[in-house]
Amino acid sequence: MIRTRFAPSPTGLLHIGGARTALFNYLFARHHGGEYLLRIEDTDRERSTAEATRVILEGLAWLGLSPDQPPVYQSTREARHVEVADQLLAKGLAYHCYCSAEELKDMREQATREGRPPRYDGRWRDRDPSEAPPGIAPTIRLKAPREGETLVDDMVQGIVRVGNAEMDDMIILRANRTPTYLHAVVVDDHDMEITHVIRGDDHLTNTFRQKQIYDALGWQTPHFGHIPLIHGADGAKLSKRHGAVSVLEFRNQGFLPEALCNYLLRLGWGHGDAEIIDRAEAIKLFDIDGVGRAASRMDYAKLTHLNGVYLRAADNDRLSDEVLAHLATRPELVISDETKHRIATLMPGLKERAKSVVELANSAAFLALPSPIALDDKARALLTGEAKAMLRELAPQLAASDFTIAGVDAVLRDFAESTGRKLGQVAQPLRAALTGTTTSPGIDATLAALGRDEALRRIENAAT
Ligand code: GLU
Repeated sequence: MIRTRFAPSPTGLLHIGGARTALFNYLFARHHGGEYLLRIEDTDRERSTAEATRVILEGLAWLGLSPDQPPVYQSTREARHVEVADQLLAKGLAYHCYCSAEELKDMREQATREGRPPRYDGRWRDRDPSEAPPGIAPTIRLKAPREGETLVDDMVQGIVRVGNAEMDDMIILRANRTPTYLHAVVVDDHDMEITHVIRGDDHLTNTFRQKQIYDALGWQTPHFGHIPLIHGADGAKLSKRHGAVSVLEFRNQGFLPEALCNYLLRLGWGHGDAEIIDRAEAIKLFDIDGVGRAASRMDYAKLTHLNGVYLRAADNDRLSDEVLAHLATRPELVISDETKHRIATLMPGLKERAKSVVELANSAAFLALPSPIALDDKARALLTGEAKAMLRELAPQLAASDFTIAGVDAVLRDFAESTGRKLGQVAQPLRAALTGTTTSPGIDATLAALGRDEALRRIENAAT
């Protein structure tokens, strides 16, 4: 069975690059009827935090990318990492190295002076352990092959190789008997029966070293796919100065998770010209051979456009809940069953114009304002003496309507016709009175959403 994993280190936020890696692993597993797992790589105790783990889990859940099994915490597997390192040692495939930090530093400095890359020279590789200096805790190093080359047939990058002479004997267990990152990842991927490792191409150099560990253990190497990183519009690695980078930041800015996933999917993966690809379609179509080798560039405008498309397609009740969650943070608003009902009623009109949930919430806020509502400058300018007189004349006729969309529409048309006005001349001052602004969905839908009592109250307040 195909099994993939996402393996973030909980040292900060959930970056959208990480989210895309998770998405690709998820889609690849789903496409092939396999499993998608999560491993929290929290071995770096200093930098890992519970809060960062929480943010990762929350971000993945929001994106609909929660794993198929409970997450594996790498820190809980330390005894196993040590066991495997000791096995390699017992088989003579790894050895104790007693070099002090100072000795290693000298080695590096000398190499640099001589214009060589700073590598460990293997001085304890073949030395008899009886020569071990007293009182020094050794590290364990892999006895890596010195001749030949290490080759990886990468699903995205193709065949990549490096001469073994270029690599030194890496530490797999530190002197304090904690595993190094490279070693822990190999042991965990093996034990979790991971068949395909899809990750950022910044890990490609680690892969050669990890391959050496697999080979020493006689374990089957998983298939690797190293995907290009996401860059900003200027070609530099995506960072905060380009805009939002954390998944939860996108959520706070009002992006829908399915829009973000669709965008991330299309970033670096293509299926003809198709732009709108929902989750079910993505599972059907995704395969790793559609992933290109070039770095992709984040285009916030394109994402915003896509978000608008998904907003218009989204379920009204769900959007109403999202909007209410945003509005609930604004103390000047009243969130009652009545306002909830108004928002749900007007949602089909509201979502036609918005590009984000935040915009949607802003455009719905007038529905939750307590009367009398404040008017913005443009709305105030519309409410001339003449407009106010018109509203006073119109109010009783509206009061007599049934306050359905069709009912108020008929009243407004009759009124415009019988008083020799264009519909817009009636609608604009009315909109100003009802919303305090000059934009809203159709005036008939806006009236119907506010309901008779509140609509008449606002008209009266504005017209006197
Ligand atoms: N923990 C690594 C990271 O967050 C990923 C390791 C891997 O995917 O093998 O960059």
